[in-house]
Amino acid sequence: MGECINCQQDLAGSDFTPAWADGSNSEAYCVCRHCGTRNIVETGQE
Ligand SMILES: [Zn+2]
Repeated sequence: MGECINCQQDLAGSDFTPAWADGSNSEAYCVCRHCGTRNIVETGQE
């Protein structure tokens, strides 16, 4: 899944939220379990 844009630690095991899962996020994101930063996840979809 890659590493965090903020702390550069591994995002494995972090909380993943698919696009629109919370109603307003047009992009899927992953919340870093180390620092809490939202990392946009490229899904390859239009
Ligand atoms: Zn982080």
